[in-house]
Amino acid sequence: MEKKNIDWSNLGFGYVHTDYRYVSNYKNGAWDDGVLTEDANIVLNECAGVLQYAQTVFEGLKAYTTEDGHIVTFRPDLNAERLEASAARLEMPVFPKERFVDAVTRTVKANAAYVPPYGSGATLYIRPYMFGSNPVIGVKPADEYQFRIFCTPVGPYFKGGAKPLTIRVSDFDRAAPHGTGNIKAGLNYAMSLHAIVTAHQEGYDENMYLDPGTRTKVEETGGANFLFITKDNKVVTPKSDSILPSITRRSLVHVAREYLGLEVEEREVYLDEVKDFAECGLCGTAAVISPVGKIVDHGKEICLPSGMAEMGPVTKKLYDTLTGIQMGRLEAPSGWIHVIE
Ligand SMILES: *Cc1c(COP(=O)(O)O)cnc(C)c1O
Repeated sequence: MEKKNIDWSNLGFGYVHTDYRYVSNYKNGAWDDGVLTEDANIVLNECAGVLQYAQTVFEGLKAYTTEDGHIVTFRPDLNAERLEASAARLEMPVFPKERFVDAVTRTVKANAAYVPPYGSGATLYIRPYMFGSNPVIGVKPADEYQFRIFCTPVGPYFKGGAKPLTIRVSDFDRAAPHGTGNIKAGLNYAMSLHAIVTAHQEGYDENMYLDPGTRTKVEETGGANFLFITKDNKVVTPKSDSILPSITRRSLVHVAREYLGLEVEEREVYLDEVKDFAECGLCGTAAVISPVGKIVDHGKEICLPSGMAEMGPVTKKLYDTLTGIQMGRLEAPSGWIHVIE
């Protein structure tokens, strides 16, 4: 199969139109068979549930080429399960797991010419999502839904090496206690936009959100979970009901324990103890781990000993091991790599 003529290593993280996308409609209590289409546009009634009351959830994963030339995705079954949990919380129907994985597979296959080659650092980002599509004006769930998947090639997250980030402790909250912080819903992102725009204006890369109830514990950033390394090489990751269960973070916890023999603590992490950690990273699909070099709490700077030049050594080991598993250089735990072709 001939690849598209794209300068893979200079791609950014933006939308690039690809040839095919998957669509399935839910009506009268059932999903239809689903099709691949070349039509990238959606025509909706002006009163559609998604437009009025933000009834929409999404997922994010990537397809890439392994060292031996296969196109694969990483643990898509977990994206299916998380979408199911997100949909349930917003009173939306379940898109079955087997169908989700099949739809991802078909969409990637149809766009195989856009899957970047091994070694380019680029990937094909896959965006499954679901939304209420029929008119809703009284506040209630929609009766009809559309599930779609599109994909877009994205460039290497770190061009010229991973530079540690500077983040600030935010005065805004991203999730209410017992709210929707633990599901992947557009509404959590809409409310984070002001916080990220102002953070950027003030020279910070990201916001560290604290627990909304007491504002003393570390939660996550707008789109990535935290991972800390203690001075005696333990991995510590915040546990909370209002953070999004990152598949990358859960995979890194397994890698830390089973591949690197590190001790892992999943527990509440107080902002007060962050100054004692040796390393800090942000985990998510896009970058796997982004190192954090500095955390600023209202003018008070916490400088991680790993510094502002490179990833800390333990973070780097975690990063190299997980990306090695993803790329087929290291043996993966059973079920982690889903081969598309
Ligand atoms: C998607 C997301 C993450 C990262 O999850 P991955 O499954 O690792 O990509 C973390 N936090 C939030 C708020 C997210 O939406």
